[in-house]
Amino acid sequence: MIEDLTTRVDGSTAEARQPADPRRMTATIKTLARRLGADDVGIAQLNPQFVYAHVGRGPEPWGAPIELHHRLAVVFTVEMDFAAVAQAPRLPIAREAAHQYLKAAQISVALASHIRTLGYPARAHIAGSNYQIMLPPVAHDAGLGELGRMGYLSSPRLGGRIRLGGVTTDLPLVPGRPIAFGVQDFCERCRKCAINCPSGAIPSGPRSTVRGVEKWPLDIEQCLRYWRLVGTDCGLCMRVCPFSHPGTLVHRLVRAGVRHSPIARRISIAGDDLLYGRRVQIR
Ligand code: SF4
Ligand code: SF4
Repeated sequence: MIEDLTTRVDGSTAEARQPADPRRMTATIKTLARRLGADDVGIAQLNPQFVYAHVGRGPEPWGAPIELHHRLAVVFTVEMDFAAVAQAPRLPIAREAAHQYLKAAQISVALASHIRTLGYPARAHIAGSNYQIMLPPVAHDAGLGELGRMGYLSSPRLGGRIRLGGVTTDLPLVPGRPIAFGVQDFCERCRKCAINCPSGAIPSGPRSTVRGVEKWPLDIEQCLRYWRLVGTDCGLCMRVCPFSHPGTLVHRLVRAGVRHSPIARRISIAGDDLLYGRRVQIR
C-alpha cells in the first residue's frame, strides 16, 4: 500500500489560489492533521541542508537530482504502540513500525492533496525511500522534540516511541521553534540505549561535532547489520529509553520534573534503572 501511495505524493495544484491568513491556516492545517490521526504537528522553515540530493523511490526516477524549493514543511508524529515496542527486537515492533509508516503516509498524502486544492504546491514525503527531506532534523526545527543519544527525535509526550511524517509546501504558515525539555542533559548521564544496543551502534561517550553539528553520531552500518541478523528493525534503543514509557500519571509527573530540574533528571535515571533494570533481557 505504501508503494501505491508513492504515485500520489504530488499532483496538480488548483488554479484558483485561496487567500490564506498564515495564523489561521496554521491552526487549520494542524487541526486537520490531528483529525487524520497525527499525534503532534509542527511547522518548520525548510532548511535546504535537510533536502536530499537524489531521488530514492518514485514517482520521480531513481537517482534523479531532487528539485525541491518549498519554503516550509508540515511535520507530524504518530504514536507507536507501547506493547509492540516492549517486545523489541522481535517481530511485533517491525509490524508496528510498518503500520505507523502506512498511517503517516496516508496522513501526508491527504494533507498534501488538501493543500493543493487551496491553490498551493505541496508534496508528501513517505516511507520506503520516497522522502526528499530528512524528517528528524526538520521535526526538531518545527519544535516537535529534541534529538537524543539514540538519534531519534524524542517528543515531550511519547519520547522516541513515534514515527514521523511530513509535507513540504509554499502555503503561508507560521513556523515553530525548536524546544528543549531536558533530553540532551538526561542523555549525558543515562546511556541506557548505548548499553543495551546489541550492535554497539550508539556512542556511549560525549557528543562529537559532525559537519558543524554537536551530536551523538549513530553507526548506521552497524545498526543495519543487526537488523539483517535478527530480521526485524530491532528498536531495542526505543524500548529501553526512559522517555518511551507510556503516559501514566507517574511518568507524566517524572517528565515534568525532568523538564525543569537537573536534580530530578539524576534521580529519575536511578529510579528507571531500579524499576526497569539497567540491562533488558532479550527472550
Ligand atoms: S535499532 Fe537496535 S541495533 Fe540499531 S541502534 Fe537501536 S538498539 Fe542499536
Ligand atoms: S535511553 Fe537514555 S541516553 Fe538513550 S536516548 Fe533515551 S534518555 Fe537518552
